[in-house]
Amino acid sequence: MAGGTVRRLAWRVATLVDGTPETASARTMTFHVPDWPGHLAGQHVDLRLTAEDGYQAQRSYSLAAPADADRITLTIQRVPDGEVSPYLTDTMKPGDPVEVRGPVGGWFVWRPDSTAPVLLVAGGSGVVPLAAMIRARRAAGSRVPFRLLYSVRTPADRYYSADLAGPLDGVDVTYAYTRAVPDGWPRPPGRIGVADVNTHGWPADLAPECFVCGPTGFVEAVADILVALGHDPRRIKTERFGPTGG
Ligand SMILES: Cc1cc2nc3c(=O)[nH]c(=O)nc-3n(C[C@H](O)[C@H](O)[C@H](O)COP(=O)(O)OP(=O)(O)OC[C@H]3O[C@@H](n4cnc5c(N)ncnc54)[C@H](O)[C@@H]3O)c2cc1C
Repeated sequence: MAGGTVRRLAWRVATLVDGTPETASARTMTFHVPDWPGHLAGQHVDLRLTAEDGYQAQRSYSLAAPADADRITLTIQRVPDGEVSPYLTDTMKPGDPVEVRGPVGGWFVWRPDSTAPVLLVAGGSGVVPLAAMIRARRAAGSRVPFRLLYSVRTPADRYYSADLAGPLDGVDVTYAYTRAVPDGWPRPPGRIGVADVNTHGWPADLAPECFVCGPTGFVEAVADILVALGHDPRRIKTERFGPTGG
């Protein structure tokens, strides 16, 4: 095991195989990583860029799907004025190298042998590791019921629209738009509140596993709502992607 841990923490040179626009400001990227050891849904990688003068910058990115042999998939949201994300979304070309290490994280993971119902609550790009859990469920043939409540600014900002459109046997997907809604949409734009989680989540007495991911402020607000609705804090797993309000 110690050898495996050391290997996971070693930097490997990954090569971009393919990059596809996910939205106007996000890109889904597939990398070839030699000897990738596999991963669980919810884990992430550390990615490191090195400039010609030796300056290095490192960021974390969630794995978006189960590994396909030595290929991993990430989805990167461009953060305006960001140091790393604009390079990944706008500049990096197939064939270009980058260093990665991982998989990282053992707490914010969904395991295919789990039998509890699952509630996923995503804010913006926080949907990435949660979509990985939906994809891992499908890959494993699991019948565990999933619910995804996905807060996103506008319909054009949704990731994985085709994948999440269904029919998804046993996976309910609900969108909560914060800025603009489609014509005739029943819910006015706004942040996720108690009523959304109460209506589209699971009752606390079913003891679901809850995974919440997104900007820090979003994660804290949703975790507070879940606790107020009676969910056991030990069953609320959170991952914070960045600053409040992102
Ligand atoms: C475990 C983990 C998993 C992550 N997974 C993903 C993922 O799957 N996809 C993804 O796109 N990002 C993900 N992130 C966020 C990512 O690591 C970077 O923080 C993000 O790409 C910004 O990096 P940057 O170098 O472009 O911006 P920076 O140069 O770090 O920041 C530039 C400016 O933007 C602000 N900022 C930084 N991050 C954010 C943010 N997330 N939202 C709003 N403002 C921000 C900073 O405060 C600063 O003002 C994850 C973070 C963590 C901790």
